[in-house]
Amino acid sequence: MPTALLLENLHPHARTILETAGFDVVTRTGALDEAELVEALAGVQVLGIRSKTNVPADVLAAAPDLEVVGAFCIGTNQIDLHAAASSGIAVFNAPFSNTRSVVEIAIADIISLTRRLTVFDKEMHAGVWNKSATGAHEVRGRTLGIIGYGNIGTQLSVLAENLGMSVVFYDTSEKLALGNARRMNTLDELLETADVVTLHVDGRAGNAGMFGAKQIARMRPGSIFLNLSRGFVVDYAALRDAVLSGHVAGAAVDVFPVEPKRKGDPFESELRGLPNVILTPHTGGSTEEAQEAIGQFVAHKVRDYLMTGSTNLSVNLPNLALDQRPDAHRVAYLHRNVPGVLATINATLAEHGVNIEGQLLATRGELGYVVTDVSSRVPTDVVDVLAGRPESLRLRLLD
Ligand code: NAD
Repeated sequence: MPTALLLENLHPHARTILETAGFDVVTRTGALDEAELVEALAGVQVLGIRSKTNVPADVLAAAPDLEVVGAFCIGTNQIDLHAAASSGIAVFNAPFSNTRSVVEIAIADIISLTRRLTVFDKEMHAGVWNKSATGAHEVRGRTLGIIGYGNIGTQLSVLAENLGMSVVFYDTSEKLALGNARRMNTLDELLETADVVTLHVDGRAGNAGMFGAKQIARMRPGSIFLNLSRGFVVDYAALRDAVLSGHVAGAAVDVFPVEPKRKGDPFESELRGLPNVILTPHTGGSTEEAQEAIGQFVAHKVRDYLMTGSTNLSVNLPNLALDQRPDAHRVAYLHRNVPGVLATINATLAEHGVNIEGQLLATRGELGYVVTDVSSRVPTDVVDVLAGRPESLRLRLLD
């Protein structure tokens, strides 16, 4: 049975899921540096980390037993994905497990800003009783403009409609409108229509600075702005000017171009101290529920990869969604994507009298992944031939 090394205080569900599947699980509380990691990975098939453990190419090269890395977080920048794939090591993360958390904070921000709760709260703590309805609104009947109608944008669309908001959205890709949401043909059309503008675009390089003075000027006077996507997409100096002039009545910002590295580090931003502006420390997706969901999601992916060969949603290998077939013997073969690999596999199996019951192939750039179910145990000769081919990256027998 595989051994799993889980670092960085992963949610206990991860351990439970892997132990239930029969894995030997070793946990350590903190991150390890590269030398410690190489030492700790001897005899380990599964590595579970969060964002603080770096897994560069030289660590992967020094870990011949490693088969899969579970990144129990959203980002995978800490792992050399290309080197992992070339060494036949699958990497999984949890891209959607905190979607609901982001949506809920966005709803909280929208209501708080529309009711000017931040202003009342600040005044009350300063001992000022300023009972007034001026500038406070219901969200019901107001129009929410969602820029980026992906996982987060669509879920927000549904919840906002349930609050009685009208929803319009703009996305550079073709997207199905949910409920009564209406697609806007241009960003400008959205900005001219919405009372609340919220950004949920992805982090592609082309989105750097996509929202600046020009876009803010197109927003309706007195509207509200949210950014919970990426810090580098918005010009915050322009947002500051718009808040101070009153053109933007309130803003909520969770992400910043430069963010402090550690808890307790000082935080600098031109948005500090502005009225009716909610600032949160990139905690849009940070809830205990999201942590639990991440623990479950990634542990299931890692378990399924080792037990069934399924690479569904792997971030670095060709994706194949596979079920367990109780009676079949399975050959999972990761290889360089060159002509003739399927023919070689099938000819080699036929030469050894092994009958194929099912076969799936997926490719991704320079990689190919073929999973073959056969009716009898695979002879060692077949393994030797296939694993010895120049295009072979990793061959696993799952039976
Ligand atoms: P997603 O990839 O599912 O959706 C992004 C959508 O934006 C896609 O539909 C894409 O076509 C669209 N898009 C990209 N560029 C665009 C542009 N210039 N104009 C209009 N549409 C554009 O991503 P998601 O899971 O919904 O996440 C959205 C963002 O939220 C990401 O940037 C992600 O990193 C961020 N996020 C933040 C937190 C947090 O803690 N604040 C947590 C999770 C995700």
